[in-house]
Amino acid sequence: MTASAGDHPPYERLYIYYLEGLAGPAEAEFGSRFIGNWEEDGYSFLFFSAPAEQTVRHFLRARDDLKLLDQFDTTYDDWQGGRFTGLRAGRLLIYPAWGDHAAPAADEIVIRLDPGVVFGAGTHPTTQDCLAALEILSADAPGGTLLDLGTGTGVLALAAARLGWRRVLAVDFNRLAARTANANVKRNGLERRVLAIHGRAEQLVACPADAVVANLHYDVLRPLIRTEGFRGCAHWILSGLLRSQAREVEVFLETAGLKIRRRWSRDNTWFTYWGTHQKRL
Ligand code: SAH
Repeated sequence: MTASAGDHPPYERLYIYYLEGLAGPAEAEFGSRFIGNWEEDGYSFLFFSAPAEQTVRHFLRARDDLKLLDQFDTTYDDWQGGRFTGLRAGRLLIYPAWGDHAAPAADEIVIRLDPGVVFGAGTHPTTQDCLAALEILSADAPGGTLLDLGTGTGVLALAAARLGWRRVLAVDFNRLAARTANANVKRNGLERRVLAIHGRAEQLVACPADAVVANLHYDVLRPLIRTEGFRGCAHWILSGLLRSQAREVEVFLETAGLKIRRRWSRDNTWFTYWGTHQKRL
C-alpha cells in the first residue's frame, strides 16, 4: 500500500508568502519553483518550493494593490498533516502521484493523486466516509450525473467517475483547489467525464444532477440543504458535520421528507449521511 523507500512528494519544503490583496493571474511570472496562489478573503498566499523572497518583492514593485504581510516555511509533510503514502477505501486505492505501487487486483480501482497544497488527500475521516458512501451509492444508483461541492483535490469527483458516474461537475471556491483538481482529473485520464470549476457550492447546487456529494463546513451546508437545487438531487451524501450540527441536519432532513439511508460517525465527532429524496424513490 505505501510507496516504496525513496519515493517522496514533489516538494520537501514549502515557502509561503502572505500578501494583503489578490495577486490573481499575475502569478504566471513566478517561475518553476512556484506552486500556486491560494486566495481567500482578500488575501493571497503564494506557495513556492524554494525561497522566493526576491522574486516576490520584485513582483510587488509593480503592484501597489498588494502588500507582503509575512512569510514562513514548513515541510510539505507537516503541511499535509503527515506523509501522504496512499490509502485504501473499499475497492478504491488512492495512491500518491509520485512513486511506484503494486498493481491493483482485478476488482480494485486506482486513483493517482497529487494533493499539491490543498485539502483532500483522502486521509481525513470525512473524506474516507464520503468514499465509503460513494461506493454504496454507486452500487445502488445507476451512474448518472453528480455534483461534488467543495472538491479540494478532486478526490471524491475522481472516485465517483471511477465508480461509474457518467458526468461529474466539481466546484471549489479556492481557485488553486479547482486547478489542482483538474490536474488530478487529467492525471487519471478522466477529462471527458469530470470537470472542476472555480465557484461557489451555493451556485452550483442549482445545476440539475442526479446526485450531490458535499463535504463542507456546516455554515455552507446549512443553507445549501434548504435549496431547491439540493432537493432536486435524488441522491445525496453530506459530510463535514460535527455532532451537534449533525443532529440539527438530521432533524431538518427528516422533517423535510428526505430519507437518510445510512449514517457514519468517526470517533463520535465527524458525521456523514447518505440519503435520498423520498419522493423520487
Ligand atoms: N471534497 C474534498 C475536500 C473537502 S474540504 C474531500 O472530501 O476531501 C472542503 C473544500 O470545500 C475546501 O477545498 C474548500 O476550499 C471548499 N469550500 C468551502 N466552502 C466552499 C463554498 N462555499 N463553495 C465551494 N467550495 C467551498
